[in-house]
Amino acid sequence: MKAIVLTDTKKMEIQEVTKPSPGKREVLVQVRQVGICGSDYSKYLGYLGGILPVIPGHEAIGDVAALGSEVEGVRIGERVAIQPNFACGTCEICRSGMENVCPNKIRLGLDVNGAFAEYVVVPRKYVWRLPDGLSDSNAALTEPLAVAVHGISKCRPTPTDRVLIYGAGAIGMFFIQLAVLSGGRVTVVDIAESRLDVARKLGAAETYHSAESLEAAAGSFNVVFETSGTPGALAHIVKWCAPGATIVHLGLPKADTTFPAFLITRKELIIKGSLIYLDEFRTAIDLLKNGEIRTDLFITNVYPLEELPNVIADFPSPSRIKDLIRVS
Ligand SMILES: [Zn+2]
Ligand SMILES: [Zn+2]
Repeated sequence: MKAIVLTDTKKMEIQEVTKPSPGKREVLVQVRQVGICGSDYSKYLGYLGGILPVIPGHEAIGDVAALGSEVEGVRIGERVAIQPNFACGTCEICRSGMENVCPNKIRLGLDVNGAFAEYVVVPRKYVWRLPDGLSDSNAALTEPLAVAVHGISKCRPTPTDRVLIYGAGAIGMFFIQLAVLSGGRVTVVDIAESRLDVARKLGAAETYHSAESLEAAAGSFNVVFETSGTPGALAHIVKWCAPGATIVHLGLPKADTTFPAFLITRKELIIKGSLIYLDEFRTAIDLLKNGEIRTDLFITNVYPLEELPNVIADFPSPSRIKDLIRVS
């Protein structure tokens, strides 16, 4: 089969590789579409660990093409979304209900071969059947939407809340819509004007193109979602928050920076981390199917598989919000 292989840092190429076959409790998925994600770019740059060489790619949907001998509840030909983090399910952390932070977690496209390929194998437990009437491109955004659905469950805004969303990538675009749905007044900060245009169309009341431009308006945010992963974001955010605010932190900055920790005490701030998802795929699929969450305004390109090595090198371009790869 054709696959994109990351052979070393910043070295990605299309190769002919052996088609995988499913183990007893696994399914083989013929890939339709895969989202290109910030974590694919981080892996490309040499961060996030995992194996090399590796077939990257984790935000995928496709058709079930073969079943392991013990697989039940899914049929060949069904269209599915892949949940790409496989918890061990047996450690103390998993048993406490936090499978998302399982230390033994296997990450598709980082620890095992992923979905930038014609076929990928996935444990049965981690495929979700997709409904008819949901386009492939919409469905391919199930995984990042599940990240936002999990994040907003940490602090659901109310109509009297002033919400700040730091970073208007795809995850930020989902937070804007989820926060507007729950009634909060939304402010967005991002460095790219093109992203802020989309943010306003999705219901953001105010947008700012830099931390400096927001400084004057700051001081009154009750609920903040940090989605950018920018080192230094938290330093701005703790200054801009109202007393008693909750900050939900989703970004994974590549370097730690200091921030005025005394403001956490002075303002009695609450800071919560949010990592991937638990069982939020069901909700994410329903939100996309019902049209409550839009993706059309920020899917910027859909490329064939062989284009990925060129596209990934240009990942930080502000003109890109969510790009997809169409495999079949
Ligand atoms: Zn991702
Ligand atoms: Zn575990």
